[in-house]
Amino acid sequence: MHSLKSYRRITVKIGSALLVDRAMGLKRDWLASLADDVAELAAGGAEVLVVSSGAIALGRTILGLGRRALKLEESQACAAVGQIALAGAWSDELARCGLKSGQVLVTLGDTEARRRYLNVRATISTLLKLKAVPVINENDTVATTEIRYGDNDRLAARIATMMGADLLVLLSDIDGLYTAPPAQDRSAKFIPVVDRITPDIESMAGAAASELSRGGMKTKLDAGKIATAAGTAMIITAGTRQNPLMAIERGERATFFKPSTHPVKGYKTWIAGQLEPAGVLVVDSGAIGALMSGKSLLPAGVKRVSGSFSRGDTVAIVNQSGREIARGLVAYDAADAVRIAGLKTGEIAAVLGYEARSAMIHRDDLVVSAAGAIAPAQAEGERC
Ligand code: GLU
Repeated sequence: MHSLKSYRRITVKIGSALLVDRAMGLKRDWLASLADDVAELAAGGAEVLVVSSGAIALGRTILGLGRRALKLEESQACAAVGQIALAGAWSDELARCGLKSGQVLVTLGDTEARRRYLNVRATISTLLKLKAVPVINENDTVATTEIRYGDNDRLAARIATMMGADLLVLLSDIDGLYTAPPAQDRSAKFIPVVDRITPDIESMAGAAASELSRGGMKTKLDAGKIATAAGTAMIITAGTRQNPLMAIERGERATFFKPSTHPVKGYKTWIAGQLEPAGVLVVDSGAIGALMSGKSLLPAGVKRVSGSFSRGDTVAIVNQSGREIARGLVAYDAADAVRIAGLKTGEIAAVLGYEARSAMIHRDDLVVSAAGAIAPAQAEGERC
């Protein structure tokens, strides 16, 4: 059983299926019960951040578009209609409980570009300081397929780690992690506690998502990797009952993901949580050994380069079987990286025609992931 009362900063993610009924629209009573829970946690001294889905689903219902597939611009229009109603309902219900609230809409670019990430963080920090509950969603009215989170599980993890939350709660239509998706395998066993998200744990996820939710278990485990690596514990539980947060207090079923004991901090949290690396560097075993012992990645250890990236972009570092070992901010653009891959440090200047830095990725800009859990490449100070 997990008590939420010991956590100081809690991000709660609410899936669309919990908030919106296709026929009836917004589930107002349920939302009211959740607002009561938020108020109870706040009264106990916790800061609560809400990541609320439901804009597109609610807009579709309000606009009477039924169940048919939506074109991109229709989804965007649904989000516009749904978000205004959703934010209004949150604001009203939280106000009824004596809480102020503020809406924050973000796009993928707002969390992936460092400067914008720091801006979003400053706004949310200020809301918390002013005792207003941030109610956050993706800005689906402008996000297009290539530049969107698409699911709020990973967005919530990104927000939780950005804000240094000590707990992320994913309220979903499933009550936790099972050894296989229970809808497909009736012998699937419930897992109450996950120490670390290993490839074995990831293989339990399956790919299926419920009708209204985009994520499914896979994106929840992706969220878990981002959260736990940064020292944020995560709980997945069913939000289908009234007062779903207090239900965790009462001991209802939930899977608890332990936070890493060596969390990445500050600047490295931002690197570790990057969602879409712009390129991939395949490295040899010598380079992997060096990375594991906290060293920089040198061009000599790079076997292959793919993707089109610029200097400063995030790239994934993978072993020769394609497994991700680390990610970091690359010091060269893709064309130069291809030219110097495999070269010794002394050979680089002659090939590039200018005196260049020796590392392909400097260790300060690098986060190593071992067995799927992201660990720091070295001890380091807060750089934000
Ligand atoms: N941002 C989407 C919405 O509010 C939901 C994404 C999700 O279901 O995870 O409609």
